[in-house]
Amino acid sequence: MTEQEQFDVSQFGTEEDIKSILVVAAHPDDLETACGGTVKLLVDRGVAVSLLLATDGDIGTHDPEYTREMLAETRRRETLDGARVLGLQEVVFLGHPDGELVADLTLRAQVAAAYRRLQPDTVFTFDPAWGGQAHPDHTAAGRAAVDAYMPSKMELYHPEQLEDGGKVADVKRFFFFGGSNREGEITIDISGVWQTKVAATRCHVSQFGQKEEALEWLAEWNRETGKCCGLDYAEAFHSMRVW
Ligand SMILES: [Zn+2]
Repeated sequence: MTEQEQFDVSQFGTEEDIKSILVVAAHPDDLETACGGTVKLLVDRGVAVSLLLATDGDIGTHDPEYTREMLAETRRRETLDGARVLGLQEVVFLGHPDGELVADLTLRAQVAAAYRRLQPDTVFTFDPAWGGQAHPDHTAAGRAAVDAYMPSKMELYHPEQLEDGGKVADVKRFFFFGGSNREGEITIDISGVWQTKVAATRCHVSQFGQKEEALEWLAEWNRETGKCCGLDYAEAFHSMRVW
């Protein structure tokens, strides 16, 4: 392994292995902030990356001018703007209420339907077992992503999803986004695409406005993650073994 390969996206698998990734997220800005740099590097490598978004982030403001409906509409638009910057293939909106996401059987079936239709070989999501995760929607999104894995491969689970020539899912690997205060087993050098990550994140105007300092926390997080390895900016992941 060369020094460069040590921190590049080949850690997820070979170009033969990884052709299609689904990111399962809770809120409109989760992808950009948690793994936007890595996603850009994978898209540049020719990987088709799509986003399954469980909520519209419709409680995410302190501005009394917004209703939940207005905010949901705004944030869906911002999500599509960010997706364009990163070159995502597709965004699937599930529209569950923000702050109340539950990894129930409905969400499991919705995730399974996305695995079956989009046929990702790889899933990126939140670690549902990470005790340091403060946001219940993040835990629920990660839980549903993992829980859908096994049934989505089975023909007798929600067979109506397989009508008209649909195929069972074939997800082969899971990677969890790293938390801010723990080292990932996979560290990706995103220094070269940092500005693109910032540009995509800035599409979420309702969250970060246009002020230069609005993303200082994100820069600090990604610098901190890179510190272990002498990188300017990095994102961290943990893998989950599936079979
Ligand atoms: Zn979130």
